[in-house]
Amino acid sequence: MKKLTFRGGVHPFEGKDLTENAPVSVLEPGRELAFLLSQHIGAPAVPVVKKGDRVLTGQLLGEAGGFVSARVFSSVSGTVKGIEKRRNAKGALTDAVIVENDGLYESTPFEPLPGMEEYIRVFGLRPSGNWYGPQDLQGRDAQAVLDVVKPDEILKQMEPSQVLDRIRAAGLVGMGGAGFPTHVKLSPSDPEKIDYVLINGCECEPYVTCDQKLLCERPGELIAGLKAVLKLFGKVQGVFCIEDNKPDAIQILKKALRREENIFVAPCRTKYPEGAERSLIKAITYRDVNSKMLPADAGCIVVNVSSAYAIFEAVFLGKPDYERLMTVAGDAIATPGNYLVPNGMYYREIIQQAGGFTQTPEKLIAGGPMMGFAQADTEGVSTKTSSAITALCYDIISREPETQCINCGRCADACPARLVPSHLAHMVEKRRLDQFEENYGMECVNCGSCSWSCPARRPLAALISQGRQTLLAQKRKARK
Ligand code: SF4
Ligand code: SF4
Repeated sequence: MKKLTFRGGVHPFEGKDLTENAPVSVLEPGRELAFLLSQHIGAPAVPVVKKGDRVLTGQLLGEAGGFVSARVFSSVSGTVKGIEKRRNAKGALTDAVIVENDGLYESTPFEPLPGMEEYIRVFGLRPSGNWYGPQDLQGRDAQAVLDVVKPDEILKQMEPSQVLDRIRAAGLVGMGGAGFPTHVKLSPSDPEKIDYVLINGCECEPYVTCDQKLLCERPGELIAGLKAVLKLFGKVQGVFCIEDNKPDAIQILKKALRREENIFVAPCRTKYPEGAERSLIKAITYRDVNSKMLPADAGCIVVNVSSAYAIFEAVFLGKPDYERLMTVAGDAIATPGNYLVPNGMYYREIIQQAGGFTQTPEKLIAGGPMMGFAQADTEGVSTKTSSAITALCYDIISREPETQCINCGRCADACPARLVPSHLAHMVEKRRLDQFEENYGMECVNCGSCSWSCPARRPLAALISQGRQTLLAQKRKARK
């Protein structure tokens, strides 16, 4: 069968063998944690604690600051030291609740759905437990989990609004990087129009394997999470979209779904950026989404794998979003792997528990090398959207100087949005933003494929992003 894909894209070095087979380890939170109040798109959360308050694991620190916002929870028990500024992954200063960890990990009681007692008895709740219980050393069998959870029976007794309320209450946001509040994504203006829910398991970023780990080791929970989302819409199909460089995950999901009528596995061709929302929708449904549309306008809801797992925990277990699986990788990391990381943990402590650096990295990135953000130091903190830390010994970008464009056209061939990046970058350099807009510069998805493919090492994606940001700022100003 022909593998599903989109036009354009590139094939960067994958680097996934560093981490894909390593067992998951649970990290020990440090003495101090910093919980950013803006870990999502939309209004920052509003703090509901003050200096000196004692908080518990899973306790609310910040209430959503509007409909497009999300709640923030503590991942440890301890004392609030105050509200201070900390840098987010992009380097901007943002308010954060600082909590001194007392090391006791006392937790607020969660509110699992009736019927989840058996799941909790067999598999446990995670806050103080290890990732692997005695039953799980090779990953959990999907059917065993589904037999215990019985998601169809449980969901039959719930209203869609109850599912959505539990997702909102747990503070879920898109964990693939964008951080769009999940309850907003799952509330499209016309739910009847939705006919596909795509679980995005492509994970096309080099080095990153945390979603692959969940697909292989928690397939039952992911299926239950997807069923909770399907409950919100009418007659929809659920699709696990997985790149064909993860044959184990494809096999496991296919086996687990053999009795399902409306959930399928779609193997996609391994190509960057297969996991970008627009590329994925094009590959699976052949529908186009542009910058003025949401995926829902094309009848699709796209949910990242880590988000689907968090949806399972929120809906079925009543567990807030305060920890996540994260890949720490790159040739400068001593023990690359996937780690269960509490939100609010400093990068320096995460890296230290991943064995530290083998040598001083030339490049440290929050996220993967294609779409991640370069870091000046290790003072960043983990958030709901922190899928990875990548540390590389050799920074190809700074080592190889930029030269003149040779009009080879490789950037245009690579662009999934069918743009001509060399021209757009030139327009930004010459400050011809009207031309930039006329030539569809706003349709760029900032995937970096053009920069990656350019033999002249031109910073195409950075220039085009600069053009987009300037135009957006001008439009905002004009509206005011
Ligand atoms: S122009 Fe934008 S969408 Fe096209 S390859 Fe470059 S970064 Fe990606
Ligand atoms: S890939 Fe680089 S050198 Fe080739 S056309 Fe594009 S900008 Fe010019």
